[in-house]
Amino acid sequence: MNASMRTNLVSLQSPGARRAGGRGVRGPRPLGSRVYIETYGCQMNINDTELMEGLLAEDGFVRVDGPERADVILVNTCAIREHAERRVRGRIGELQRYRKRRPELVLGVTGCMAQRLGPRLIEEAAGVDLVAGPDAYRGLPDLIGSIQASAIERGQTLLELDADENYEGVDSVRRQGVSAWITVQRGCDHRCTFCIVPYVRGGEKNRAPEAILAETRRAVADGFSEVVLLGQTVNSYRAGDWDFATLLRAVSRVDGIRRVRFTSPHPNDVTPDLLGVMAEEAAVCRQLHLPVQSGSNRVLKRMVRRYTAEAFLARVEATRREVPGIALSTDVIVGFPGETEADFAATLDLMRSVRFDDAYLYRYSKREGTPATRFPAADFVSDEVSGERLEHLIGVHRAIQREINESEVGSEREVLVEREARSPGDVLGRTEQNKVVAFPGDPTVIGDYMGVRLTGTTGATFMGERLGDGREGGLRFGT
Ligand code: SF4
Repeated sequence: MNASMRTNLVSLQSPGARRAGGRGVRGPRPLGSRVYIETYGCQMNINDTELMEGLLAEDGFVRVDGPERADVILVNTCAIREHAERRVRGRIGELQRYRKRRPELVLGVTGCMAQRLGPRLIEEAAGVDLVAGPDAYRGLPDLIGSIQASAIERGQTLLELDADENYEGVDSVRRQGVSAWITVQRGCDHRCTFCIVPYVRGGEKNRAPEAILAETRRAVADGFSEVVLLGQTVNSYRAGDWDFATLLRAVSRVDGIRRVRFTSPHPNDVTPDLLGVMAEEAAVCRQLHLPVQSGSNRVLKRMVRRYTAEAFLARVEATRREVPGIALSTDVIVGFPGETEADFAATLDLMRSVRFDDAYLYRYSKREGTPATRFPAADFVSDEVSGERLEHLIGVHRAIQREINESEVGSEREVLVEREARSPGDVLGRTEQNKVVAFPGDPTVIGDYMGVRLTGTTGATFMGERLGDGREGGLRFGT
């Protein structure tokens, strides 16, 4: 965290919270308290929930799957877009009814929106008992215990950003899905002008490689064979002599690991070494999410993305050359302040030129406290125009995606089966390239690797049929 971050992020922790939640201070032990955590936002947030569950379990809390039976409800929030915050606000309103019925219940808000709004959340949502930001989760058990024991009043905040907090030594409680998500880096040193992340998660902090490898081995022991390494700009990872390429290679060589993915990389940190590891290590999936955000150099500059469209295209070319068969996905924001029709046309050109396998396309969302909000009022693109541009872009992307996927119909892939599909009798699996395939199967095959032939596509996802008895071992399908 740099000096300007420190001034922006003054501690909002109340004296009561300090007493109850500070490290090394033990509050009352809430043995047997049932806790329910509802999660919004990205994979990192889901992993943070697993972390909180680990911390709370150590202190005797018991996890439950719904709010009805819970003594403690935590809403782990996202602040990336206004829409995400509106959803969470609505949900907090709904959850108040449990607290009205059972006044002893503790209702808390955690995560990025908690960090962003702090005490405002308590003021505007009567019935929110605590607010805790992403670096303050170690204080949660004591804070909750103290509130439950009426040792401190309700309405506490734990919002200090801590440049040293990496949650080393905390065992996440993994239970979702067939992939283990492992956070290797927290926070971000970039200052993209549209993005709230550096202000709610602080500067970049990288975990020790030994701790990451130990967590990977634990995940294998728990039955996971696919891991996803998480970080805000994951490939800028550096710890001593270790860079991200070194880390990725080491994780991919852990006994029992069959697939490794990572997200989200920054285009500038896609190095020749990283591409070399992706090409050489069989366990590293040939899939790369490469957020471009815009195809216009003028907009990229105003976003402070630190690359040009030409530099981005050069990275794409190098990636495809070094890692044949790789699938690429991206993020794009349309309607960024000052975006003209010509800028938008440049984004369309870039999309047509790269031909991404997948894309997450958004309208610009104004985030209070970010530099982009200070552009002149005349620069802001109307909802109508940004909506039209978004629709146009979605249409272009979908047509490209359909063409790519149709060209893959008939090929054979290995999938890791993730869950039951909506259509009865089908399961969903994911290919190495991160493409989803629905095919006949029952829930007993969830967690298995299976060979499938792609028989059709909806445009975005595939239908498939099993090859042989389907349970394949160690094959690398397709190109
Ligand atoms: S690199 Fe990503 S997380 Fe960091 S400021 Fe930019 S958009 Fe936000």
